[in-house]
Amino acid sequence: MKNIWQGLAQELEDAKAAALYRSLRIAEPDSPALNFADNDYLGLRFHPRVVAAFQKAAEKYGTGSGASRLITGTTEIHERLEKKIAVFKRREKALMYGSGYLANLGIVSALAGEKDLVIIDKLNHASIIDACRLSGAELRVYPHKNLKKLEAILKTSARFRRKLIITDSVFSMDGDLAPLPELVSIKKKSGALLMIDEAHGTGVFGENGRGAAEHFGVEEEIDISMGTLSKAVGCLGGYAAGPAVLIDYLINFSRPFIFATAPPAAMAAACLESFRVMEEEPELRRKLWQNVKLARKEISGLGYETGETESPIIPLLIGNEEKALNLSVRLREKGILIPAIRYPTVSKGKARLRLTLSARHSAQDLNSLFTAMRQVRELL
Ligand SMILES: *Cc1c(COP(=O)(O)O)cnc(C)c1O
Repeated sequence: MKNIWQGLAQELEDAKAAALYRSLRIAEPDSPALNFADNDYLGLRFHPRVVAAFQKAAEKYGTGSGASRLITGTTEIHERLEKKIAVFKRREKALMYGSGYLANLGIVSALAGEKDLVIIDKLNHASIIDACRLSGAELRVYPHKNLKKLEAILKTSARFRRKLIITDSVFSMDGDLAPLPELVSIKKKSGALLMIDEAHGTGVFGENGRGAAEHFGVEEEIDISMGTLSKAVGCLGGYAAGPAVLIDYLINFSRPFIFATAPPAAMAAACLESFRVMEEEPELRRKLWQNVKLARKEISGLGYETGETESPIIPLLIGNEEKALNLSVRLREKGILIPAIRYPTVSKGKARLRLTLSARHSAQDLNSLFTAMRQVRELL
């Protein structure tokens, strides 16, 4: 017994020595303005209408949901939210999960098994990788956005029952976009299904904030669209959207949907209100993009390396883990919260600070950010 705990303690010591140790930090809500780290891109987490919808539904339905969706956990609010998501995503139907992570596990493990092939981008989110492993399907990975390699993999895939290409639509640590139109034409030629993860696309991209698929004009061509309700939507949960038969199949065979307690009705009510606010207040998205444009210009002007970002996610590429940590600590001393992102979230030697913009940031917030970044730039 003692040896087992000692072994774990040794691994933690090794992580510390490599500047890869992680610990929890309390994030107080009183100074959200200086938070340049979260994914609340539109500031909806604190929107009065969203908070009020949550409170009102909690009064009526309680805090929990009591059981899984198939037992007694489904309310009329869940169904209204799912209809809303389906319309918003231009798909026939949608299904809510407890989180985006669970949605990925639930969709991929239901659709793919031993006879199937899943093909993913090297920089896809960890929840997609875990989902593929859980499914038991054959897993192939192509280098980031390397479509030639993807096509080569598909050429030798005749023996598989189903083929599923999965990609983040907006890559979460680099902020660049997947080439969705090209992926659509590849999947059509090969008979594979295309699934996209719009965790960082929904609410942010497209004329109406419907996601990167709207931005590229390919919404109707996406077989499975999944996303989270925890980022721009400002709440907690995940969803799958696609043809009615897919949703029916998930209700019957998706284990993370079947064997988990339903997300509370109050959460579904808050999500529903969020989608309405997104539609009724397009100025939030305009403000977000104004902030993004200004920040990109200022930050690259200061000499930071920001890679190929096309989104509100701006990576400050550092490389060395200790250097990244140090920069993050110095910024924090100046009142700016931008945590260092290290292995295994990104590869070893690719450490970075991941800065995100939100509609809730004021001009003054941005000035404080730029001032602090100017002061610490000698650490680069
Ligand atoms: C955050 C994220 C998820 C997981 O969503 P949660 O709702 O946080 O569980 C899935 N995919 C991507 C690309 C993400 O960035």
